[in-house]
Amino acid sequence: MKEFKLDSKQKQQFEKYYEFLVQENQKFNLTSITEKNEVYIKHFYDSLKLTEALDFSKIEKLLDIGSGAGFPGVPVKIMYPNLQLYIIETTMKKTRFLAELIELLELENVEIINGRAEEVIVNYREFFPVVTARAVANLPMLLELCLPYAEAGGFFLAMKGSAYLEELERAENALKLLDSEVIGEIKYQLPDNYGDRVILKIRKNKPTKEMYPRKFAVIKKRHL
Ligand code: SAM
Repeated sequence: MKEFKLDSKQKQQFEKYYEFLVQENQKFNLTSITEKNEVYIKHFYDSLKLTEALDFSKIEKLLDIGSGAGFPGVPVKIMYPNLQLYIIETTMKKTRFLAELIELLELENVEIINGRAEEVIVNYREFFPVVTARAVANLPMLLELCLPYAEAGGFFLAMKGSAYLEELERAENALKLLDSEVIGEIKYQLPDNYGDRVILKIRKNKPTKEMYPRKFAVIKKRHL
């Protein structure tokens, strides 16, 4: 975490986040990772790496799809308190946890939407300069779920593991149909040998056709 400039308030917020996560995990089963150093690296540090993909001090709104216990959206919001954070998460117990967490950390301008990304898009189509997701679906599916939310000229930042190259190959057609292109790959290693990660920086070049995203069963059966 030393590599990120955090003031004492932000450091305290991460401490509170860790404690609340472990406490609520006993009831809600939010994450399989509970050891402190591991949470700090695999969840907090990894989430904050997103801030190296773009200049977040200039970004107004961020959408995190399938945020689970808040990753990567909440750590990024802690680091950039002025950001308006939107979260779409389908599991009710997770959105309840997130609402309590946001209150505990006294974060303002966070909107939590309980629902499936492919179903709650109506008010948010082409609405975000930046959309992100970590560990939600394979890349072809993820592109169809996430890109319709980004504005033309905006970005989708996909957080992936070391097997991303194969996913990228399978995503070629989806990128074409969704008028988007990978313009950067930010590769890094998590500290303490916790593994290799990559952030795919994907730019959306044109508005997405209204027919996307299709229903989940269709996306799953016939990905683009
Ligand atoms: N992003 C978090 C992380 O990296 O720790 C959570 C990852 S978890 C494996 C996947 C999350 O995505 C779950 O919380 C699940 O409920 C949510 N999810 C899956 N499909 C979704 C969809 N179509 N719309 C919204 N949330 C979804």
